[in-house]
Amino acid sequence: MYRFKNLTRFTSRFNHQTTSKFTPTPFSLQHIHRFTTTAAGSAAPPVAGLGPTKKPDKPRVVVLGTGWAGCRLMKGIDTSIYDVVCVSPRNHMVFTPLLASTCVGTLEFRSVAEPIGRIQPAISHEPGSFFFLANCTGLDTKNHEVHCQTVTDGLQTLDPWDFKISYDKLVIASGAEASTFGIKGVKEHAIFLREVHHAQEIRRKLLLNLMLSDVPGVSDEEKRRLLHCVVVGGGPTGVEFSGELSDFIMRDVHQRYTHVQDYIHVTLIEANDILSSFDDRLRVYATTQLTKTGVRLVRGTVKDVQPKKIVLSDGTDVPYGLLVWSTGVGPSSFVRDMDLPKAPGGRIGVDDWLRVPSAPDIFAIGDCSGYLESTGKPTLPALAQVAEREGKYLAALLNKIGKEGGGYAGGGGDMELGAPFVYKHLGSMATVGSYKALVDLRQSKEAKGLSIAGFTSWFIWRSAYLTRVVYRLSFRSLVLLALVIVKYGVQTYILIMIKVDDWLRVPSVPGIFAIGDYIGYLKSTRKPALPALAQVMAEREGKHPTTLLNKTGKEGGGYAGGGGDMVLDIPFVYKHLGSMAIVKL
Ligand SMILES: Cc1cc2nc3c(=O)[nH]c(=O)nc-3n(C[C@H](O)[C@H](O)[C@H](O)COP(=O)(O)OP(=O)(O)OC[C@H]3O[C@@H](n4cnc5c(N)ncnc54)[C@H](O)[C@@H]3O)c2cc1C
Repeated sequence: MYRFKNLTRFTSRFNHQTTSKFTPTPFSLQHIHRFTTTAAGSAAPPVAGLGPTKKPDKPRVVVLGTGWAGCRLMKGIDTSIYDVVCVSPRNHMVFTPLLASTCVGTLEFRSVAEPIGRIQPAISHEPGSFFFLANCTGLDTKNHEVHCQTVTDGLQTLDPWDFKISYDKLVIASGAEASTFGIKGVKEHAIFLREVHHAQEIRRKLLLNLMLSDVPGVSDEEKRRLLHCVVVGGGPTGVEFSGELSDFIMRDVHQRYTHVQDYIHVTLIEANDILSSFDDRLRVYATTQLTKTGVRLVRGTVKDVQPKKIVLSDGTDVPYGLLVWSTGVGPSSFVRDMDLPKAPGGRIGVDDWLRVPSAPDIFAIGDCSGYLESTGKPTLPALAQVAEREGKYLAALLNKIGKEGGGYAGGGGDMELGAPFVYKHLGSMATVGSYKALVDLRQSKEAKGLSIAGFTSWFIWRSAYLTRVVYRLSFRSLVLLALVIVKYGVQTYILIMIKVDDWLRVPSVPGIFAIGDYIGYLKSTRKPALPALAQVMAEREGKHPTTLLNKTGKEGGGYAGGGGDMVLDIPFVYKHLGSMAIVKL
């Protein structure tokens, strides 16, 4: 109930001067019915949302984004001081350094995605804290409001609708956007590697192409195209993904798709040197290692992307079946359109304390922000380690402001803020596949320091990231994972039944056996129907004809029409081993 009490109606519409050029969609009553029930008949329909806080309510921190920066900030916010309201089109955080490993099944998707409710539990149960699945579409800095629009991911459940949230403190952590350099066709035909759904799409396409290329009738040329995986961008992400692909080819394709193993190739296209931020020695190592594992390195610039081929600036056509685009990031259109001071490169400009100077109570962290020129500091790299540390720093700063009574809008402006944010680079890591990685512990490209490559580096790389992922898997997730096969098997399917005899043969069609959920015993067998269970179907019914077929083949009855008069030994007998089902964990 508190939730609805707290959803104060705004009487104004979206006609304020906002700091964004984003145009909210026309507003209708239909869009706000979840937030208010009193607007019917009024001339100007009110816009729903969370109104300004009043004592004794806690001051409200509004966070835009659920990436490295926003999540680390939310984790550190003292919820006894503040209510936290998070707005993001994504309800989970993505552990990006391990995303490439999920594309080829080295890791599962859920192991790199962390639900927001686990990072900051207050948003699930505190009466004044919320997570809203929405995009921020604009800011009204004068009235301390953010304008948002719900995200429905193309589903027809509800039309998107607009709402507003008043903030006491606003943290913009909306990240960056993949750079396409305006090249035609990239957005339409290439897959970016930034979200879990991208990794899913890559995996789906890779497996589909492997299957399709094995179907009779596909020409050699088409097979080569379908199985040509092209990665554009030789930064750490492009290199790591190429390494993962070459591992997948050596590990899985050579074992499970031997018919097409000679057709599959990985090409990495980069306009300059690969891994340009790494030590020269490491770059040479990475080049040698990738080439050794079959990755073709091409120096070139992409001019045009078409559905089945890319065209390089020298006119070369590169046919592809899978195209992954990873050429770095730049400011998103949301940030570009915002009327806030900008740092060199177009990010939101911040001062030494990560405040946006001309907009009171607004802070910006992570890939969307950069130091203003006036600070004399360089723009920090678009890295998780920067975003995470900015989030941690700002949480501590906001807690301090809140504790000293400056948490409400306009408060804390003249407070002594303490030490400014200082970034110390801890080094860079990248894996190149085949259990090899690079670890560059230098502070900067010009500085001296330790840089190592090889298996030890890979071990450091994997440990550094996996320890961070594994500890986050709850007992529940692990048990669920273990039970998933059983649970899947317990689902019942109603399908057309194929009748079989005691040996699972389809009597009327010589040489054909049937197994699985869709079969039933012939009446003449006098056996009851078997339950649709994994233990019946997949496991034991599958095993029986295999033994039978092997025996028939050994005795010379393997060809069509053979084995019909052979003695078939014991018929299939099913013994039920018991049942399991998840009731509650
Ligand atoms: C595949 C891959 C591998 C990487 N590997 C490494 C690595 O090994 N080491 C490293 O240091 N860095 C790595 N990075 C970079 C690192 O992930 C980024 O620097 C980091 O994610 C930046 O964090 P952020 O919070 O600023 O932005 P993001 O993590 O991009 O999060 C931005 C958030 O804002 C949300 N958002 C966007 N627009 C809006 C809006 N209008 N309103 C509300 N919310 C919005 C997004 O949905 C998202 O939740 C990698 C990146 C990728 C893609």
